[in-house]
Amino acid sequence: MYNPKSMKAEEFIDHQEILDSLAYADAHKADREVISAILEKARARKGLSHREASVLLACELEDKNQEIYALAEQIKKDFYGNRIVLFAPLYLSNYCVNGCLYCPYHAKNKHIARKKLSQDEIRAEVIALQDMGHKRLALETGEDPVNSPLEYVLESIQTIYSIKHKNGAIRRVNVNIAATTVENYRKLKEAGIGTYVLFQETYHKESYEHLHPTGPKSNYCYHTEAMDRAMEGGIDDVGLGVLFGLELYRYEFAGLLMHAEHLEAVHGVGPHTISVPRVKHADDIDPDEFDNGITDETFLKICACIRVAVPYTGMIISTRENQSVRERALHLGISQVSGGSRTSVGGYTEEERPHDTEQFDVSDNRTLDEVVRWLMELGYIPSFCTACYREGRTGDRFMSLCKAGQIQNCCHPNALMTLKEYLMDYAAPETKAIGEKLIQAELENIPKEKVKEICKDHLEKIEQGIRDFRF
Ligand code: SAM
Repeated sequence: MYNPKSMKAEEFIDHQEILDSLAYADAHKADREVISAILEKARARKGLSHREASVLLACELEDKNQEIYALAEQIKKDFYGNRIVLFAPLYLSNYCVNGCLYCPYHAKNKHIARKKLSQDEIRAEVIALQDMGHKRLALETGEDPVNSPLEYVLESIQTIYSIKHKNGAIRRVNVNIAATTVENYRKLKEAGIGTYVLFQETYHKESYEHLHPTGPKSNYCYHTEAMDRAMEGGIDDVGLGVLFGLELYRYEFAGLLMHAEHLEAVHGVGPHTISVPRVKHADDIDPDEFDNGITDETFLKICACIRVAVPYTGMIISTRENQSVRERALHLGISQVSGGSRTSVGGYTEEERPHDTEQFDVSDNRTLDEVVRWLMELGYIPSFCTACYREGRTGDRFMSLCKAGQIQNCCHPNALMTLKEYLMDYAAPETKAIGEKLIQAELENIPKEKVKEICKDHLEKIEQGIRDFRF
């Protein structure tokens, strides 16, 4: 029986409720009246239920689909402005005891090279990332209690935060590691992590069990209830995602939104971010072996419908997608992109992109500088800001500012200042020239006179080498 407040995975991700929602969506996919009413509700920017959003995803009326896309773009502009936050993944270890059928790190893969970074190797990777200009990382590991226990992850986080190379610093470490205990989440919180990210992979329990035949990850309920334990352990910001291609996308979409509804109902705050990864080719993985691959068009419609359904949740797209899909998705609600990514263990210190330990193929191989320039040429402000978490604007405090449309007053100036830092410290001359012009033009758009003054003052301080700023 569907109960978003239940703490049991099978009650807040209720299979029958998903099937009923999909049947409802099918029955109304060309129902102009119902679709118009849902769009009307979405225009109030208060979000949609999983069932309403499922109708939009199924919608077959071309003019209404165009309305969905236009609304997604507008909502994104209203809540996130033209800022795009940048980050990079950092793979610490690819040892793994699980049997995930879609991931080359699965335990039975005997020919993939296994590697775990030492603290010195982490230092070298972080310096390489800082020299590119990165300030925000997503830590990635396989699950292996012996080779990469939590203590190793905690030590690595400490190492990462301690490295200050030239003007570089990693100011926010998000963590994407396997589901764990409340006690361990508490330790991650104490270590100063930003968002805890865990992809559900699939919300379909039967498929989940088929796709995860062995290892601790095979426990569907333990995995699905991880975000509740993370929040119980004090982590305010959690990031959801499903791996599109494994199951029917409409099922996953409804499950994802039900998970968001559950977090909001129980913890008073929904997910901080939603990621939209698709299964990619990897070492011994052929994405075509999974029957549920989705086209670019469907992928983009999913992005737009998520944007409309959960307007306050950040949306992340990785380099699994190519430049053209990323470009189209940016318009429809994406607020964070990775750049210059390597998905191998120790990949950033190598001249050429190494493949031996890679988790999946990267489709956008541009450098961070190329990504920054591209964003600016598209009219976006690349942001390296990490102030929210350091200023305590997390969880419901972030959400209430966001819902009141106030977050822009902090994010916009911070984005400009961190972009300025990037331009001074790392940008290629052409990128720098484009960026300086953009900052000048954007200064005029700063909402309040007082904020504008402070911003100008801080921008000057950055030029003098003084970098203690944040709104
Ligand atoms: N081991 C942790 C876990 O079990 O959640 C960390 C996650 S793993 C390093 C990061 C994510 O990569 C996975 O959650 C999965 O969704 C994704 N992934 C795995 N294999 C992939 C593939 N072949 N293509 C695209 N993404 C993949």
